[in-house]
Amino acid sequence: MSIRVIKEKCSGCKFCIKACPFSAIKLVDKKAVIDLDRCNLCGACIEACKFDAIVLTKLSPSKIDFLPGKKIGRAHV
Ligand code: SF4
Ligand code: SF4
Repeated sequence: MSIRVIKEKCSGCKFCIKACPFSAIKLVDKKAVIDLDRCNLCGACIEACKFDAIVLTKLSPSKIDFLPGKKIGRAHV
């Protein structure tokens, strides 16, 4: 399981940043970006986002290779 921001839906309102207890979200080019090394998938940002711009994702192993976060890099291909 992982988490991602749907950039097209993100308004840059920062509600998710305020809601995250782990300071795992920042704005880059006015869009929320989640640091997967800090995120523990608590879901607080998903509830805070009024735009449904944050979603939990189930990644296939082939996609894991392309993620920058190390947290899920241990999956075997
Ligand atoms: S709460 Fe949603 S819309 Fe607002 S900055 Fe975060 S992801 Fe974007
Ligand atoms: S799931 Fe929890 S820890 Fe991860 S970015 Fe959202 S609020 Fe922060």
